[in-house]
Amino acid sequence: MSKGTINVAVENIFPLIKKFLYSDHEIFLRELISNATDATLKLKHLTDIGEAKVAYGDPKIEVKIDKDKKQLRIIDQGIGMTKEEVEKYINEIAFSGAEEFIEKYKDKNGEDTGIIGHFGLGFYSAFMVAEKVEIITKSYKDEPAAHWVCDGSPNYTLEPADKSERGTEIILHIAEDETEFLEEAKIRELLVKYNKFMPIPIKFGMKTETLPKPEDAKEDDPAPTKEVDNIINNPNPAWTKQPTELEADDYKSFYRELYPMQFEEPLFNIHLNVDYPFNLTGILYFPKMTNDMNIQKDKIQLYQNQVFVTDNVEGIVPEFLTMLRGVIDSPDIPLNVSRSYLQADGAVKKISSYITRKVADKLKSLFKDNREDFEQKWNDIKIVIEYGMLTEDKFFEKAQDFALYPTVDGTHFTLEALKEKIKDNQTDKDDKLIVLYASDKEAQHSYIEAAKEKGYEVLLLDSPIVSHLLQKLEGANENMSFVRVDSDSIDTLIKKEDTAISKLSEEEQETLKTFLTETIPSEKFSVQLSPMDSSANPFIITEPEFMRRMKEMQQSGGGGMFGMGNMPEMYNVIVNTNHELVSEILNTKTKKKKERLVNQALDLAKLSKNLLKGEEMTAFIKRSYEMIK
Ligand code: ADP
Repeated sequence: MSKGTINVAVENIFPLIKKFLYSDHEIFLRELISNATDATLKLKHLTDIGEAKVAYGDPKIEVKIDKDKKQLRIIDQGIGMTKEEVEKYINEIAFSGAEEFIEKYKDKNGEDTGIIGHFGLGFYSAFMVAEKVEIITKSYKDEPAAHWVCDGSPNYTLEPADKSERGTEIILHIAEDETEFLEEAKIRELLVKYNKFMPIPIKFGMKTETLPKPEDAKEDDPAPTKEVDNIINNPNPAWTKQPTELEADDYKSFYRELYPMQFEEPLFNIHLNVDYPFNLTGILYFPKMTNDMNIQKDKIQLYQNQVFVTDNVEGIVPEFLTMLRGVIDSPDIPLNVSRSYLQADGAVKKISSYITRKVADKLKSLFKDNREDFEQKWNDIKIVIEYGMLTEDKFFEKAQDFALYPTVDGTHFTLEALKEKIKDNQTDKDDKLIVLYASDKEAQHSYIEAAKEKGYEVLLLDSPIVSHLLQKLEGANENMSFVRVDSDSIDTLIKKEDTAISKLSEEEQETLKTFLTETIPSEKFSVQLSPMDSSANPFIITEPEFMRRMKEMQQSGGGGMFGMGNMPEMYNVIVNTNHELVSEILNTKTKKKKERLVNQALDLAKLSKNLLKGEEMTAFIKRSYEMIK
């Protein structure tokens, strides 16, 4: 038996390992299973090229708990190590890796909760949970097995062992304060979290499988059962296959495998597959989106060579696509760096723009191949697309081909088609194309009707980020403005040549305006007279587009509009001077009766804009009953 001291620069590394990786103790299992997987894949390679003259067979990795002995064991059938290799790989290389890691961590106080800490420690992470670690390993080469023991001090022993099968067994003597890692449920949870799609089968205990009944079985005979290995992973997940090998159903069942608690099917998927200038595979799914962008339980998972890394893909996947689900797997994403570094990394930037481009291409082909189906899905996917248009200029450009603008009547236009359709009727006297929209068909019903009467198209734009998007669209399309139907009277929304003549004289208008301004509370309403169609409503309340949009943008988190959200609400009351009722108000003699008419008309206008509430509503109802008595 040989004894030795690991060459330690940092005196006693193991307490440090525990301390610096406090929150991440559980990753030891992933690290050890990754090593076991690597050792198995290395053997496969060596047998493939004829270097190792042994049978590769059907190797698996086994994880075993022995609660009485307080042991957790990880056993593989990979290449194994000779005594010299243990000296080299475990005492020198693995150790220096661990030491380097600690050095890096020391200045950081372990404060970065990003990707750092996910990788890098390797074998020595075993000491985060174990007070003593043993390695019993037999190389594929014809050499005796070796037994290494280390109790967490820099001292180790290394002696021959009598293990006869090829491979490595790691025995962790779980520390007193880490006994949760002796619980079957905990280990199962970790195996499912990190190793669900690793390429070598992982066995954890046995399970009972029901076999088909034999032909001659009687009705009441119980179906025969068999004890089989309980394999916890799927070594060949869909994303590792070629798109041509997969049917639509395969994608759907992989989605269920990824998110067992999701009962709704995804709308469609995008298979990512590149190997130059970087390696990346993956499958992204568009789930049905709600308008609430904050609900996001099931996220995109990031893997490296089928090992789960994290479900925080911020910085790697463009932000608007983090609303999608699925997996991406790339060995080229540097993981032991901080997020800010990650975002500046050239390779990562390329990955991010590749993903954006693939998603845009997919959307375009869906639109082209089956427009009807795409229109039907629009409502469920628009939030991602609109958000992408807003935040990624490249995507904005590409989206011109497939971004849809639905009308209140359910026709879906592209922006180009819409412009063509409305250019004759909706260009104003300054040659500006005015696009009308509503955000709520019910609440803005009377305004929508007024617009339709003029033959105008009204879009239905109801995502929470619409005001930001319109701002961006107006910036990109000179001579085009979006205005919500209730932001002005219909004649002013799209100003044509001034031909409207008022029935009232200048003097009468003066008198009327003075009276209205005195009667209508000026802190909330500003009165405007307008000669409209005699059939248009006499009083119309509008909210100017600009102010409303700025406020909405501020509420939904727009930069640079500080303070707007706190502005008081201001509305215009547009009074149609050509309406009979307005003449009547003017000509009514008693002040009291005049006021009654104005208040009733104002309340009706408020009602039409959903502004009549509470006490005002109660008074209005009471007054209306009085009137029909
Ligand atoms: P890394 O895996 O990043 O190289 P580790 O500290 O995890 O670092 O392991 C160091 C080395 O020890 C590995 O590169 C490998 O050569 C060897 N090793 C670790 N675990 C095993 C194993 N289960 N079978 C064979 N060799 C192993």
